[in-house]
Amino acid sequence: MNDRLDGRRSLPAVEKFLQRGEMKQLSEVYGRQLTLLATREVLDEARRLIRHNNLVITEDDLVRDIEENLIRRTSPSLIPVVNASGVILHTNLGRAPLSREAMEAAVKVACRYSNLEYDLVKGKRGSRLYHAEKILCQLSSAEAALVVNNNAAAVLLVLAGLASRRAVVIARSQLVEIGGGFRIPDVMRQSGAKLVEVGTTNRVHLEDYRSALEQKPAMFFVAHRSNFKIIGFTKEPPLDEIAQVAHQADIPLVVDLGSGALLDTASYGLAHEPMVQEALQAGADLVCFSGDKLLGGPQGGIILGKQVLVEKLRRHPLARAVRADKVALAALSATLLHYLKDEALQKVPIWQMIALSKEEINRRANRWREWLAQCGVQSTVIDGVSTVGGGSLPGETIPTALLAVKPRQAEQFLKQLRQNHPAIIARIEQDRVVFDPRTVFIDEESYLLEAIAALRGQIA
Ligand SMILES: *Cc1c(COP(=O)(O)O)cnc(C)c1O
Repeated sequence: MNDRLDGRRSLPAVEKFLQRGEMKQLSEVYGRQLTLLATREVLDEARRLIRHNNLVITEDDLVRDIEENLIRRTSPSLIPVVNASGVILHTNLGRAPLSREAMEAAVKVACRYSNLEYDLVKGKRGSRLYHAEKILCQLSSAEAALVVNNNAAAVLLVLAGLASRRAVVIARSQLVEIGGGFRIPDVMRQSGAKLVEVGTTNRVHLEDYRSALEQKPAMFFVAHRSNFKIIGFTKEPPLDEIAQVAHQADIPLVVDLGSGALLDTASYGLAHEPMVQEALQAGADLVCFSGDKLLGGPQGGIILGKQVLVEKLRRHPLARAVRADKVALAALSATLLHYLKDEALQKVPIWQMIALSKEEINRRANRWREWLAQCGVQSTVIDGVSTVGGGSLPGETIPTALLAVKPRQAEQFLKQLRQNHPAIIARIEQDRVVFDPRTVFIDEESYLLEAIAALRGQIA
């Protein structure tokens, strides 16, 4: 049956239309309710078109439109993309990709029962706090650890748990906005802590911290500036000296590291990013950092330090509200194991990317160029820079090689790359669209190149 429907004949009733064989199949795949909804929408639209434009629409057209409508309604909106931008920790692109081991650990606990809060030896209730935290203490030599939902939550919990209605001393040069509305002063206010700013925008002295003790603060708080640099006439006392002043007054020093590197970025031609171990050695009583920045794991907020302080945070009502979920805990533990086994550089994707040499990237970019040339696509390999991103190492770049193509309309070209599934994210440099092999996984290469070749008509 392929009746032509036009202005002279009304469309079939929805219920009757749903009796068709193809419609019954769609109903089975997508469910009755949703199929009914899509059918109503498509038939309404068809009626409108027939009335106003005198269009001819067949029933097969309608079935096809309904299927498309259903596919649109049921496609996930959160999907993978190919990151050819060269920004390793791209906050908009989900920050750190997980290692294979971390992914497998997450999958294992996601679709089965687990001993999340069950002590298998005693056969009774255990604690979810046990899993990742044991490895964290081993790695950092901290007395205790606590994992929460993200680092913003960690900062909030530390301030609410240890400084509510009390003064917290922080340098003016550290009253930062991390992005996405996370501002240190605002978080302080939310936590109920009273902000006591010391020093000036560019300079803070140890004496400023000493004077602030008059305010009877609950803690000294040091925040990593993360996404910007202050250069020129600047000064901040070293962490160990701030710790000394805090400890003489019997108050804790808390350090928000932001990225929380466990490996030294300076070994890879970058500036030195403050490391977790260093902050603890310098005398920080608590440090907190993200799970999905330079650690290279899942979203999470990690708090490390003195047992008495961590214990206080565990018992705080907010701890329950910001706790980490089992899938993240499994992935985090597996990620931390890479560090414990001294294999992070080989297994954690963001560290593999950071450590890739320019020569290796240059070889890959040239392979891409040759492959494209065989498809008749003109491209060049040029020098460029990758960045770490994700609120770490502001202004720091890693030399890289870029594949560059010159489309007639660069913006339009980027847009079309984004319309692929998975979408492809590249960037524009001087009218050229450039692709950085550093952030492209090897198994994404042929997909990426075919997508570029498919747009050859637009390349000058
Ligand atoms: C990124 C960052 C945060 C927020 O961490 P999330 O894990 O994104 O919640 C907090 N403080 C600093 C200094 C940061 O760099």
